[in-house]
Amino acid sequence: MEPAQDPRTIAVVGASLGGLRAVDALRRLGYAGRLVVIGAEPHMPYTRPPLTKKLLLGDGVAEHAQVALRVKPDPHDTEWVLGRDVVHCDLAARRLTLDDGTTVDFDGLVAATGVRSRRLPLEPDTASPSLPIRTLEDSVAVSERLRPDASVAIIGAGFIGCEVAAAARARGCRVAVVAVDEVPMQRPLGLQVGAELRRRHEAAGVVFHLGRGVASMAPEGGGTRLRLDDGTTLEADVVVEAVGSVPNVEWLAGNGLDLDDGVLCDGALRMGGIRACVAVGDVARFPNAILGGPPRRVEHWQIPGETAVHAAATLFADLGGAEDDGEPFGTLPTFWSDQQVASIRAFGAPGLADDVRVLEGDLAGDVAIGYLHEGALVGVVLLGLAKEQGRFLQQVQESLTLARA
Ligand SMILES: Cc1cc2nc3c(=O)[nH]c(=O)nc-3n(C[C@H](O)[C@H](O)[C@H](O)COP(=O)(O)OP(=O)(O)OC[C@H]3O[C@@H](n4cnc5c(N)ncnc54)[C@H](O)[C@@H]3O)c2cc1C
Repeated sequence: MEPAQDPRTIAVVGASLGGLRAVDALRRLGYAGRLVVIGAEPHMPYTRPPLTKKLLLGDGVAEHAQVALRVKPDPHDTEWVLGRDVVHCDLAARRLTLDDGTTVDFDGLVAATGVRSRRLPLEPDTASPSLPIRTLEDSVAVSERLRPDASVAIIGAGFIGCEVAAAARARGCRVAVVAVDEVPMQRPLGLQVGAELRRRHEAAGVVFHLGRGVASMAPEGGGTRLRLDDGTTLEADVVVEAVGSVPNVEWLAGNGLDLDDGVLCDGALRMGGIRACVAVGDVARFPNAILGGPPRRVEHWQIPGETAVHAAATLFADLGGAEDDGEPFGTLPTFWSDQQVASIRAFGAPGLADDVRVLEGDLAGDVAIGYLHEGALVGVVLLGLAKEQGRFLQQVQESLTLARA
């Protein structure tokens, strides 16, 4: 190990994808000072997409090694403080306080605390727990209960709820999905594609209760009885809650930051425009120079890596390590979801569309669907056609560049 030549400290809060990518990017830029990463989970960084795909299908033992992200050898010895929550950050004093009362002083800060599962505002009842699915432990707990012929109720029909439904059917469970939306994945994909996904999941044996909320849950004969808001009751051996997420921002409170739906960043990814304090990944709400429009959070796997590269450059420049090129952050969001009945790839911002058209193929098979806003292509969703993704990605990129010219 080389002795650190640089007396400064950068603290990274959150030891997952965004935190790891920030460490990599800072070292790549030449930062040779102290780097401390503090993470609430007991694990070194791991990747979450397999938690509702490969791991739930029950292939092999679900353990950290199957999902671990590669941590590069670091000549400057990054310190990993795991299983510890940062409970407070004083940005003026540049000091973090951890849940064991210890403090970490910093010159630069990366917020990479992501999101946690939103829970339904029902009376908690430990006798009939419903399971969230965000961490490795959550995935193991759900997977253990997916026995053939078990009845599984999934609350929420977003991509996580749909992936759990598909995996549970593949494991031979009886599956019901309850959601307030009209169709599965309505928000990211719209009504037309959502209806097709519903058709496919139903053909695979999933039963949907859509346009319905859960009014109550209570233990019943070793399982759980759910009462829906139209009076319908469902009995389930396992209940999985996949009803969205809540950004982990509480530790940043009291610093005058805008913490409504994540932490508001400027175009360089500085939190509240504060020098050498940046945010990355799911927790960051940022303006996107490619899409335009108001600042948004984006919960896609690609975002922690891309924001980390940009935010690290901002931070390094703020600490005097390099010139700031002044380029605002911009990216074309891309997203995938594998649901047995459909392999979905989405690019751009389908949620902004006022018109949806089939570009290629047939909705009932492999298909490319275009999402248009005021006549311009703003997003494409592929069901199947994975080999064509480069071509469609380019089309969306070109269309957005033209629209902003
Ligand atoms: C089940 C699942 C499946 C997914 N599948 C896909 C997919 O197919 N495609 C896709 O594009 N995206 C997918 N995603 C989204 C993708 O995984 C996320 O966008 C990504 O994990 C975000 O990384 P992050 O580092 O910003 O946050 P996170 O991964 O949420 O990590 C934040 C870390 O910070 C820690 N933390 C929080 N608060 C504190 C604190 N105060 N102090 C210390 N540590 C703290 C947390 O414990 C956590 O370890 C999936 C997500 C999940 C949950």
